[in-house]
Amino acid sequence: DLPIHEAVLGRSAVEHAALPALIDGQDGTTVSYAELDGATRRIAAALADAGVRSGDVLALHSPNTIAYPAVFYAASRCGAAVTTVHPLATSGEFAQQLRDSGASWIVTISPLLETARSAAEQAGGITEVFVCDGAVGHRSVRDMLASTAPEPAVPVDPARDVAVLPYSSGTTGTPKGVMLTHRSIATNLVQLDRLITSGPGDRVLAVLPFFHIYGLTSLMNAPLRNGSTVVVLPRFDLEHFLRTIEKYRVNAVYVAPPIVLALAKHPSVAQYDLSSLDYVVSAAAPLDARLADTCARRLGIAHVMQAYGMTELSPGTHVVPLGAVDVPPGTVGRLLPSTEMRIRCLDADKDLGTGESGEILIRGPQVMKGYLGRPAETDALIDADGWLHTGDIGQVDADGWLYVVDRVKELIKYKGYQVAPADLEAVLLAHEGIADAAVIGVSDADGNEIPKAYVVRRPGEQGARLTEDDVITYVAGQVAPYKKVRRVEFTDTVPRAATGKILRRELRARERSSTAS
Ligand code: ATP
Ligand code: MG
Repeated sequence: DLPIHEAVLGRSAVEHAALPALIDGQDGTTVSYAELDGATRRIAAALADAGVRSGDVLALHSPNTIAYPAVFYAASRCGAAVTTVHPLATSGEFAQQLRDSGASWIVTISPLLETARSAAEQAGGITEVFVCDGAVGHRSVRDMLASTAPEPAVPVDPARDVAVLPYSSGTTGTPKGVMLTHRSIATNLVQLDRLITSGPGDRVLAVLPFFHIYGLTSLMNAPLRNGSTVVVLPRFDLEHFLRTIEKYRVNAVYVAPPIVLALAKHPSVAQYDLSSLDYVVSAAAPLDARLADTCARRLGIAHVMQAYGMTELSPGTHVVPLGAVDVPPGTVGRLLPSTEMRIRCLDADKDLGTGESGEILIRGPQVMKGYLGRPAETDALIDADGWLHTGDIGQVDADGWLYVVDRVKELIKYKGYQVAPADLEAVLLAHEGIADAAVIGVSDADGNEIPKAYVVRRPGEQGARLTEDDVITYVAGQVAPYKKVRRVEFTDTVPRAATGKILRRELRARERSSTAS
């Protein structure tokens, strides 16, 4: 039972001191485990010297950099909770998070300083803004590394103290501050141990953002805990991503479905030597089994392994373990140790058995402490017996593999039938002429809900020739009649969150404004 900085670096800083912990994928700068540990201690000393105290909230506002982990663990050493901020947040959105989280400190990078300053001004209550490089008038991480202040010795209560305060993605509503204790995060790392990264020698590419709990766990905490090397990129750009895999002989990537889609379909992929890749993990949104298979065959790996979780679950509950054989297509994995699951009937008060679809309920040590300042929403999510109602629909097979269908809230009710948008999106993506697609429920002239597809045509002849009727006919040939796509709109892009989730609420807003006008 350790605070998160100890849980991650305690052993690896000693056992793997000389090994590379981090490599900057842009300029090749390498940080060893000993250097990371030293930097963490120096920055902690400087933060404590500046006044950061146990129980404070520090907002970490940065894309992925090699300094990010050191600042994160330094805050933990001071007993402060880190609220991770989207680097592309507007100053208004950032200010909202500062107010909601009660943050009193900000760490940012020079290019984002103006946004951070403006957010601090709007929110109030910010004591100091630090920068991860040197901006005049602000204490920089470089200054902090030179600090001669004593290291803080702060007692942490892992079971109660909040280590991270990430905000949920806001896919279904307002992002909520999720209180994750040192214990829930550290326990999830133990539950995931060796299941997602194997250890020294592994080179993991961190292209998904550290600010989201999926990236924070799978690309930072888990690999640094077991002595792997993390190659860091600040944002996703397909060519750069592929070049970095080739250059650093990366063997593990953790991605979201849109990157799997690019790896399966984009012509550039063939131009790089990706033979170092051993495994690709996808999570955060539904991934179609056919698409996963195309991607795996193209990369010459056994399969794309899925994982499942949510911010409120620290985040993991299911993974396809490394080296698993006979993995059935489409599964998101098996239940982690010391975690319980039930599948609940959607329209009756009963649990379901193998092969039946219902809401996924989870109980375990990785369940969050609660939403910050939202007791009613916490109680609506976690029942009196400690079961967290995920809002996702899934089913389990006889061998314990879980399949996630979609979110309960996203289901389209067509004449009493339930249609999962993810099913239709998978069918659409399998079409040669379609580059990307999203499905939502819209109202027809009689007020019934019907599935509507937003389709991005693939560049080239096949895409150009595609008509709305073609799309409707194609889908009708693949699915039961009640699931048919009944309306199609061509679009340039599908709106997505940083973790690749389709922002269906944006499509719904688009639909509302087009029917209003
Ligand atoms: P908000 O709760 O603010 O609306 P969000 O639910 O998208 O946003 P996250 O906690 O980032 O915020 O995402 C968790 C959700 O992601 C899960 O509830 C599930 O719907 C989806 N998800 C995660 N992994 C998978 C997966 N492997 N397959 C399908 N869906 C997944
Ligand atoms: Mg959610």
